Amino acid sequence: MFQTHNPPEYLTSDFITGNVVHCFSTRRGGVSTGYLSSLNLGIHRGDDWSNVYENYRRLGEAVGFLPEQTVFTRQTHTDAVARVGAADCGVGLFREVEPERDGIYTNEPGVALVCFSADCTPILLHDPVRHAVAAIHAGWRGTALGIALRCVEAMHRDFGTEPADVQAAIGPCIGPCCFETDRNVPEAMLAALGSEAEPFLHPAQGDAAGEKFFPDLKQLNALWLRRAGVRRIDVSCDCTRCQPERFWSHRVTGQARGSLAAVIMLRQ
Ligand SMILES: [Zn+2]
Repeated sequence: MFQTHNPPEYLTSDFITGNVVHCFSTRRGGVSTGYLSSLNLGIHRGDDWSNVYENYRRLGEAVGFLPEQTVFTRQTHTDAVARVGAADCGVGLFREVEPERDGIYTNEPGVALVCFSADCTPILLHDPVRHAVAAIHAGWRGTALGIALRCVEAMHRDFGTEPADVQAAIGPCIGPCCFETDRNVPEAMLAALGSEAEPFLHPAQGDAAGEKFFPDLKQLNALWLRRAGVRRIDVSCDCTRCQPERFWSHRVTGQARGSLAAVIMLRQ
């Protein structure tokens, strides 16, 4: 179950418990103006840096992290995941992110992992036994590449994370109500996941039957997590495109939009 908090408005999952803070942001409760009104958390969206900083300060004050503790992804629709640590705090907000990585993970407390979305799928992971967290951006390409499974594998390799211990939350993203695609997307999912993907590809009816599909990115990522051995998976029911006044949606506004952020941090 996801809970809504105010202000600024953000969501949490009650599947993620223990000595950890996390959130999925909305676009409400920030200081940005115009088409970025108001809780824009992206630094490359045309916003004033001071607005973005203030938005992180407000969100962090409510959730329990500092802007100075954040570490950003640099998202390019890959399945690249990278281990980060305290030395990386401030990367993104205060200095450029160098390597491309759509997922980041750490076992160090006080490191606030941040991934971005505006229709793509944000995924947060917490291992309460080995004390590790991850933030993952999964667009349809990253979903087809299985980035969620790659990240669980990396946490197992580096920290000894047992997948059965992992708490997972799949946040608001474009839903199968709105994510109309051509054949290439379901074909990529079937190539990667086989027939188990079929229930989540939703072929269009009527004239577009066989040509258009409505894939369920949240459930496809949940399938990858189950394949990785994760059992506790919370899935948001919110569609970003259905609620453009509440979430940033690339399909609604194109590039003239802010960024949502999903954040997770082990408490110190
Ligand atoms: Zn929708």
